[in-house]
Amino acid sequence: MTEMIYRDLGKTGLRVSILGYGASPLGNEFGAADPKEGIRAVHYAIEQGINYFDVSPYYGRTLAETRLGEALAGGYRDRVILATKAGRYDKGRETGFDFSAERITRSVEESLVRLQTDTIDVFQIHDIEYGRREQIMYETLPAMFRLKEAGKVRFVGITAYPLGILCDVAETVELDTILSYCRYNLMDTAMDDRLAPLSARMGIGLINASPLHMRVLTNLGAPDWHPAPKRVLEVGRQVAEYCLSQGVDVADLAMQFVLQHGHVATTLVGMSKVRSVERNLKSVGVAPDPELLATVQEMIEPVADVVWKEGRPENDDPGAVDKAS
Ligand code: NAD
Repeated sequence: MTEMIYRDLGKTGLRVSILGYGASPLGNEFGAADPKEGIRAVHYAIEQGINYFDVSPYYGRTLAETRLGEALAGGYRDRVILATKAGRYDKGRETGFDFSAERITRSVEESLVRLQTDTIDVFQIHDIEYGRREQIMYETLPAMFRLKEAGKVRFVGITAYPLGILCDVAETVELDTILSYCRYNLMDTAMDDRLAPLSARMGIGLINASPLHMRVLTNLGAPDWHPAPKRVLEVGRQVAEYCLSQGVDVADLAMQFVLQHGHVATTLVGMSKVRSVERNLKSVGVAPDPELLATVQEMIEPVADVVWKEGRPENDDPGAVDKAS
């Protein structure tokens, strides 16, 4: 059995497993997931010491929350730190988001029902780059803090893909947690430029999501909807192939790499199968082979840190390119 490693989640007082459970695949985001197997995967993860679970009403348009709630019923809820989100609900740019105080306040009540619990441990605004900064800082976050005062949620955070907006908001409003996705992995390490040092300095719990670059760094390859430019996906494919030729599963190398990070409190990997949980646990506390890592980083170099446009144009990171270009 893997010896799990735990770390402080910023100043929250929570100790979280460095390997966290991403529940978006329970909502069929990466293809149909077997609900019974999903429940087994959640239970197995808890038994193996994974204690951080991340979900959102957006994943599977509420399905992931409902399934995670079912899996945590019967005594498992109290053994985990449960994180969900509000503000993102559907795919459309126009209809998918609502960062108003009224919607956020209603959202937590809906999530509590689906998750079969009476409090959310970490409540986050989902993908703030789709909002106006003024609304996020002066309407949405204050509504979240009121929910914290009311005891509906214990801690408050933000999530996004672009890094600049995460840093800017964190420098303006006091936060408990920040979740960044796809910005610290074998293909992109830009999270370390400003966000990681800032989080460490300010005592904010830093959460790194999508360590497999939303399946680019697996033998299965990226799903159709993956937003990265084609040249990034192509290099990802070549890296997976090269690792295979060396007798290594690229996902193992990718997990080992991210789990070596010194400041990230928890790394969230999406899982809906016992087999994936088992596999990812094996990377905890294991350093990547330095030679293989160096070769892979050399292959990635021409597309390293390529960032795509996500959200409102004013929130894009500098140099962001068109999605799937
Ligand atoms: P990921 O990089 O974790 O990849 C998940 C995919 O890889 C799934 O298809 C899963 O079945 C597969 N997988 C997992 N382990 C594997 C292994 N060892 N070998 C081969 N395949 C494996 O991407 P993700 O799921 O998008 O990110 C992880 C979690 O982070 C999400 O589930 C979600 O909870 C969170 N997240 C949050 C945000 C946000 O808040 N804005 C954004 C992205 C992700």
